[in-house]
Amino acid sequence: MNYDAWFQCSEGCGETYPLTEIIYRCRNCDGLLEVQHDMDVLKQRSAADWKTLFEHRYMHTQYPYGSGVWGKKELVCPNIDDNKIISMYEGGTNLFWAERFGEQLGLHDLWIKQCGNSHTGSFKDLGMTVLVSMVRQIIAESGNIRAVMCASTGDTSASLAAYASAAGIPAIILLPKAKVTREQLIQPIANGALTLSLETDFDGCMEIVQKLADRKDFYLANSINSLRIEGQKTISMEIVQQFDWEVPDWIIIPGGNLGNVSALGLGFLMMHELGIIDKLPRIACAQAERANPLYRSYQTGFTEFSAITAQATQATAIQIGNPVSVHRAIRTLKRFDGIVDQATEVELSDAAARADRTGLFNCPHTGVALAVLIKMVERKQIQPDDRVIVISTATGLKFPDFKVAYHNVAPGEPAPRYLNAPIELEADYEGVLKQIGTHLDA
Ligand SMILES: *Cc1c(COP(=O)(O)O)cnc(C)c1O
Ligand SMILES: [Zn+2]
Repeated sequence: MNYDAWFQCSEGCGETYPLTEIIYRCRNCDGLLEVQHDMDVLKQRSAADWKTLFEHRYMHTQYPYGSGVWGKKELVCPNIDDNKIISMYEGGTNLFWAERFGEQLGLHDLWIKQCGNSHTGSFKDLGMTVLVSMVRQIIAESGNIRAVMCASTGDTSASLAAYASAAGIPAIILLPKAKVTREQLIQPIANGALTLSLETDFDGCMEIVQKLADRKDFYLANSINSLRIEGQKTISMEIVQQFDWEVPDWIIIPGGNLGNVSALGLGFLMMHELGIIDKLPRIACAQAERANPLYRSYQTGFTEFSAITAQATQATAIQIGNPVSVHRAIRTLKRFDGIVDQATEVELSDAAARADRTGLFNCPHTGVALAVLIKMVERKQIQPDDRVIVISTATGLKFPDFKVAYHNVAPGEPAPRYLNAPIELEADYEGVLKQIGTHLDA
């Protein structure tokens, strides 16, 4: 089969470009580019045959098809030679049945898609494997790419640095100084990337990296580059596959630059067009109240959108005021009968801590999504029988200070709702036993 995909202008001017061209916006009209697939060729295989093929490959070892992304290669990026692919076995992440947490909320079909259980600890690996593999393809075919680069709130940079170093390609990382965690900062450093800590926020880093991208020898790895979206869209395919090809009722996803919510939608639309599924879920995009430009736009029925200056939030990976994929995201939410809601700092940290007590270990962004879930249940927007998936975007282990701050309250400060502070006491049997008794009787 001659599977094929290319860049196409998303603003309707229709201009197309090969995926091996180093281009991020349409030369005609400056619109964002999207990857288009030759759907007629894809449709020549029946839905049943696609499912069988995907199940046959899933989590198996034949490189690179055991990867959750490359197991769907024909639908993701058919134009890369297998021997150019850099894969770290992305995807295949656990769907955590949130039985106890769901019970507390009156839901019995609540699941957390643990996208953070990945090589660099966030869902960003899904898209980065596609982008860095394409860079290898371009270099092999002719291209003069000296380095890959990105601006980041901490997870894109970790992912880019890992894949680039595995591929032997230099990586340049622009981070907002003191706005990523220690864990996120050390990831690109350990991988040997040139790591630049700038006196600005993410939006400021993004401006500079977009200027650097005018030089064709530095390849831009931010999600303005749709190759990443193609890998990320496998989240939807994997969720559906994990439910024996059943489509859930609701998916709740945290949003910052808004590439991931767009990717989620694209994955479902593609499966729908191929007949793999026959309905679409509804999508809720969750924002931090302190970085909520999409929420504000939603309040106007999406008739208006203004970039804002994002305020400091514990959900640092979504502290973005000028999201690059806002138009794609709005299109997605309209198509999926979607909603946007927001969470305050107290709401997001309480939600994360509350769910942690039922076996999870949530990052603050997952906390934002969980807080929105709680609100939707309270509003009866989500019904007890609904199957609900919350996208957990990163592992909580990258954000220890978030949890330490929650459970370590200074004397005199108000205790948070789900506080569990360590108790210091003498190494004395009777004293220990008494403390245990007090705890269990409480
Ligand atoms: C990147 C990221 C997000 C936001 O994804 P967007 O595509 O920018 O909306 C959310 N959570 C985490 C942990 C991330 O790394
Ligand atoms: Zn155009």
